[in-house]
Amino acid sequence: MKTTAILLCILLLCGLLLGCGAAPEQTEPAPTTTQGPTYPVPDKLIALTFDDGPNAHMNTMLYVLEEYEAKATFFVIGKYVSNNSDIVSRAFEGGHEIGSHSYSHEDMTQKTDDEILEEIQKTQDLVTNITGTAPVWYRAPFFATNAQCYALIDMPFAAAGVTANDGSNDNIAADRHYKIVNNAYDGAIAILHCNDITAEVLPQILHDLKMNGYECVTISELFARKGVTPDTTIEFSYKDTNVQ
Ligand SMILES: [Zn+2]
Repeated sequence: MKTTAILLCILLLCGLLLGCGAAPEQTEPAPTTTQGPTYPVPDKLIALTFDDGPNAHMNTMLYVLEEYEAKATFFVIGKYVSNNSDIVSRAFEGGHEIGSHSYSHEDMTQKTDDEILEEIQKTQDLVTNITGTAPVWYRAPFFATNAQCYALIDMPFAAAGVTANDGSNDNIAADRHYKIVNNAYDGAIAILHCNDITAEVLPQILHDLKMNGYECVTISELFARKGVTPDTTIEFSYKDTNVQ
């Protein structure tokens, strides 16, 4: 009996020791082979803005942005909003910002006061009906603006310090990627468009921006975190956040 008891004690001790030895292994992180790349802690901000949605390409972009945990601002054209309300809703629910790009996407400098006000109000109403929140940022179609527009449109006009030059199909995916990634700087507002080629190259753009230490935020968040209050005056509106 005594020998059996000693053996039991030894077995118990071995068990405890083995148990203790195994415990740290259980707390080690799981293998990372299935995870994506490790990005550096971001130390710069950039606001990616996408014009001319909502459309199917914007929907594709939302999946990509989600995958890279990036936030963006979509300057939507009012006349396309009703037929793509699900995409606008998805963007808003995903933490992205919806800005106004007018209702018709025509040159606002060629319109009367009443026409401009209608362009803005119709788009505000359409977006508000979907998200419950009216856009607080405006981007002029073709960047065409004048004193009349600034006086009538009570929103800051979104500038663009970095451009993908992706308004036409002439600029191939690699060029769009190069222009955004290589010209990016802390505090920049970048302009891109909701089209097929930009949607295709967006994963590489987001990957490289993150590798370079950028956090992609909405335009409102960029200004808030930079401590800059957006203004609606001509002098300020076409400047980037870090150009005082
Ligand atoms: Zn546009």
